[in-house]
Amino acid sequence: MQNPYFATGISFLFPQVHTPINSSFFFKKFFILISMNVDLRTAEKKIEEIGFLDIEIDPALDLFEEIAKLKKEKNAVVLAHYYQEPDIQDVADYIGDSLGLAQEAARTEADVIVFAGVHFMAETAKILNPDKKVLLPDLKAGCSLSDSCPPPIFKQFREKHPDHLVISYVNCSAGIKALSDIICTSSNARQIVESLPLDQGIIFAPDKNLGAYINKITGRNMVLWNGACMVHEIFSFEKITRLKVRHPDAKLIAHPECEDHILKIADFIGSTTQLLKYTQSENTQSFIVATEAGILHQMQQKSPGKTFIAAPPDNACACNDCPHMKLNTLEKLYLCMKYDQPEVLLEEDVRIAAKRPIDRMLEMSKQLGL
Ligand code: SF4
Repeated sequence: MQNPYFATGISFLFPQVHTPINSSFFFKKFFILISMNVDLRTAEKKIEEIGFLDIEIDPALDLFEEIAKLKKEKNAVVLAHYYQEPDIQDVADYIGDSLGLAQEAARTEADVIVFAGVHFMAETAKILNPDKKVLLPDLKAGCSLSDSCPPPIFKQFREKHPDHLVISYVNCSAGIKALSDIICTSSNARQIVESLPLDQGIIFAPDKNLGAYINKITGRNMVLWNGACMVHEIFSFEKITRLKVRHPDAKLIAHPECEDHILKIADFIGSTTQLLKYTQSENTQSFIVATEAGILHQMQQKSPGKTFIAAPPDNACACNDCPHMKLNTLEKLYLCMKYDQPEVLLEEDVRIAAKRPIDRMLEMSKQLGL
């Protein structure tokens, strides 16, 4: 016999339910909903500590389909960096490097920006879009280069060169952007530096390798902050030289964040987008790629007949993945879209101060036709 208290509860919650069969169906559904809310509340409490929503996902769910539905439902756009895992690149609306992503974030009409990249990139999207919700699948997706330049110490460094302009590479925190005059990316750094008068003193932060490379090709003498990217500093000169001997026809292509001894033996140096375009336009059939391995997915898709070899790092591991970029997964991306968190938020005064040098970069890039 049906429990009268249970039946009353069910009728209260679901007035249309009368039969014992339907009651049991709704009873189950009701408790599933309750337990989902408990899971969500518990996961929300842990976001600050672990960086993402730790909620179990039904393994039978087609995440590609679910993400497509959520994009429509929430008017959301997924922006992904080339260094993201292939599945994330495949669900993205736009895939690019830092410059392309900043330009895309500046022009998007979406209400929600899901940023599949690292924290400073999502911050840049928020700086440009204060009224939009900016989500990052894992808040702990940081960046060793950005971390190598803490704003209070950089402020003291800048004060030692009061007549210098500060050009900061986009791979830095909002706090560093707020202390800068112009932001640049590896796609536009050379042109931005060259557009300034020759006698203008410049501080370049935070990447010393990119700064040294720009000094070399422009003949400038910029003061460099001593920061570096852990991924681009790890390539092994010896192993790459051996690879070149084994693959004499392969061209070595490198990102300017790499150290000078790697850049010296490279056949082509460029930003991630420039490297990708180079592999498409060159007749060469094989390339040794000295940058984060995620870009190989796009290179292979754009030139299926060509061979791409990830340049080996100077450790026992055979890969050169950025551990920060790879914290994002398709599962975390789905969860952050479903529950609208973790969200990237910024203090308004920092955001306004950080926006000025980004706007300057976007304006200069437009004028330079980049
Ligand atoms: S590859 Fe280097 S610069 Fe890019 S996010 Fe990772 S640590 Fe930062």
